[in-house]
This record gives sequence, C-alpha cells and structure tokens, in this order.
Amino acid sequence: MPKSLFAPTALLPEGWAQNVLVEFDRSGIITKVHVGASAPQDAVQCQGPVIPGMPNLHSHAFQRAMAGLAEVALNPEDSFWTWRDVMYRLVGRLTPDQVEDIARYLYIDMLKAGYTAVAEFHYLHHDSDGRPYADPAEMSRRVLRAAERAGIGMTLLPVLYAHGGFGGRPPSDGQKRFIHSTDGYLKLQETLAKDCQGPGRRLGFCFHSLRAVTLEQIKEVLGSSADDRPVHVHIAEQQKEVDDCLAWSALRPIEWLYDNVAVDGRWCLIHATHAEANEVTAMVTSGAVAGLCPTTEANLGDGLFPAVDFAAAGGRFGIGSDSHVSLSVVEELRWLEYGQRLKHERRNRLHDANKHVAGYLYRSALAGGAQALGQNMGRISVGSRADLVVLDGQHPLLAHVEKDDILGRWLFAGLNRMVKDVMVGGDWVVQDGRHADEIEAGRAFAAAVKAAI
Ligand code: ZN
Repeated sequence: MPKSLFAPTALLPEGWAQNVLVEFDRSGIITKVHVGASAPQDAVQCQGPVIPGMPNLHSHAFQRAMAGLAEVALNPEDSFWTWRDVMYRLVGRLTPDQVEDIARYLYIDMLKAGYTAVAEFHYLHHDSDGRPYADPAEMSRRVLRAAERAGIGMTLLPVLYAHGGFGGRPPSDGQKRFIHSTDGYLKLQETLAKDCQGPGRRLGFCFHSLRAVTLEQIKEVLGSSADDRPVHVHIAEQQKEVDDCLAWSALRPIEWLYDNVAVDGRWCLIHATHAEANEVTAMVTSGAVAGLCPTTEANLGDGLFPAVDFAAAGGRFGIGSDSHVSLSVVEELRWLEYGQRLKHERRNRLHDANKHVAGYLYRSALAGGAQALGQNMGRISVGSRADLVVLDGQHPLLAHVEKDDILGRWLFAGLNRMVKDVMVGGDWVVQDGRHADEIEAGRAFAAAVKAAI
C-alpha cells in the first residue's frame, strides 16, 4: 500500500494546483500526483499549502559553533580575512564528536527552516596536528552520520585543499587540518563512494577555491571519474581574491576557470560575487549554478552578485546558508532580492515573465539547488523524492491568499515559524514546527560548543 498525503493546495512544476493527492513508495519516491482528487480517508491531510523542500547548496557545518560570536569590532579593517582567523582558531580545537554534535543540531534547524537536503562543503579532514585519523574518512563520516540522525538529505562534497594561495603556494599552519595530496583526496573519494549511496545521498567533487588547488589537480580529479557527480568550488567571494588572481594570472577567477576548464551544468560556483559582464555570460551559457549565500555574504562584507543581469540572461542559481549565521530560506531569498533593491534603488528586481518575485525566487532556488546537489528533488512530480514542506495554513497572514501570493507572504512578510511540517524521503521529520530530537540534540550542541570555544 503506497503512502500518501492530501494537500488543499500544492506547488507543482506546472503551477499551483488544488486538492492534490501525492503518493510515494517505501523508498520515498513520488509515484503518483493526482490533481482535483477527493481526500481519501487513509491519506495524511495537510493543514496548509504544500511546496517542495528547499535544497541548501552550501554548508560548512562546524561554523555554526561560532555564528554570531564574531560580531565585535576589534579591527577597523574587519573583513572576511579577519573573520577567517577567528574561524581557524575554532577549527584548531574541534574533535569528531563535537563536529557530529554541532552538525546534527544544525541540520535539525535546517529542516525546521524548510531545507530538506544539504550540500556539505567539507574541508575539516584531519586531527588537530594535521595528521589523518586512523580512518581518514572519520570527519566525513561524522557529518554523514549527523545528517542521517537528523533526517536530512546530503550531497557530501569532500574538499580538495592543497595550497595556501594562487600558484601552488604552501598552506599556512591554520590550514593543516584541511590539506590533501591529489592521491590522498582521490582515495578519500573512493572510500566515501559506498557511504554516499542510497536515497537522499550523493557524493561530489569539490575544490576549496582557485587559491587552494592547481590546474593540474583540477584536471586529475575531474579525469578520475566518468560519472556526472556535482563539482563545487568557492570562486570569487572577495575583491582581494580577484586582485590576487589577476596578479597571478592576469585573469579574474571566473575568467580563469572558464579559460582553463570545461565548465558545465555539473558545476556550482559558490560566491560568484565579483562577476563582470563577460563572466556572467560565461556562467549562463555553461549552465553552471551560481551558489548564492546572501546572509553570509552580507555578514562577511563580501559584495553583491550581479543577480539582476544574471537572472535576466536566464542564469541558474540556488541558495546556501554557508557559515550559518542565519538558517532561513526566508532570509536568504529575501536578502537576495533586497540586496538588488538597495543597489539599484528600485523594487521588484528579480523575476521572470510572470513578474512575481517570490514565485521566481523560490522556483529558481529549487531548480538550481537540486541541480547543484545532483539530487532528484525540488519538484512535486513522479520520480522525485518526497521532500515536502507544509506551510501553516492557519496563520493569519496565509489565510485567504493563494498561488504565488502564498510565497510572497512567507518570504517577504513571514518567518521560519510558518514552516509547520517537513517531510524528507517520505518521512515526516518536523511536525507542528518541532523535530523529535531537537531538545536532546540542542543540549549536545551546547555542550560541544562549550568545550570547543
Ligand atoms: Zn563556503
């Protein structure tokens, strides 16, 4: 007997529909979507609009431990780089148990915000002396286990981090827990392939940044597998990074990447913040996803991605919570739009031919996020994973609105708490705004952070 739910209204790929019966099999894959159905007695009756769960395309789980603690003006030149020094001090102390406890509670908070899968950009590999653990995949397995325990989908992106600057410069002492040779990295990928099989799991390639790898390493890693696994990289977050890349190669980072590597739809360019018109065109043409993390980019003073031009040209994008200074689909999408409003001194900047900003933002981030994670999600349609969010249909702001105005209310006037129920792979992981393990996981998180900072 298939499991099923009945939605009074649901966001389908072809648009909003009424009285939708969704059936899914034991592995959590949607097997039937029936519009205009009458509610069968054995189906779960959702008490609000049902929308696809959001992929979170960029996370460094351990950074949640320091979220909100770096907001002290100790240096008039505070920037990403001074923040990074604070982050490295935290990194120096974290144990595998602490990382798992921090990640588990983080992922529970993600689920409560409406994210149903996360791409974990994982570079904290080794012990505090920079030596591999007895199991070199120890830390990777801890974040996978945290995702399993929380009930969130995961694309694991073990990071190749080999150098401390453009042109193969040696890494600094603060980076010693991150460092791999190409061979060591490819072994890690091989080891993790089995761990990343099964529903809601995916393995991807990941280069920390163009600062951290050489072209030879990129080519060797990409050439090691014929499959279509996702490829992520931090690309152009900081003006200093652009300046350093220009000094080294006479090209900007995005230019350099497209000049040297065949970038396609497998790629996700995280923080393509500093992109000129020719770089925007290259990204759009290649079908790569721009990985945008508006709250972290704002928090770190990175700059603003040229989202209006990118969207007008048909570029693909998704959202990530990155440093986890905020865990909110609402905030990421709202600030993506608001950044452009502040820049252009105009309203309603990001939309398509339908003109509805919230509808465009949510649909685009679903599609771009699913592509970036390499996962079959982000759509309420046959063959997709049943990753669903039920918004609170009893909330006064959501009563009496329909279609994309539901998303407009939630994203521009609402809060995380409008997320009522969340399903991942056919299982309810958040019900009535609560996750079954949140109290216990919260205590473990607090203890881990107390010990680590
Ligand atoms: Zn990042």
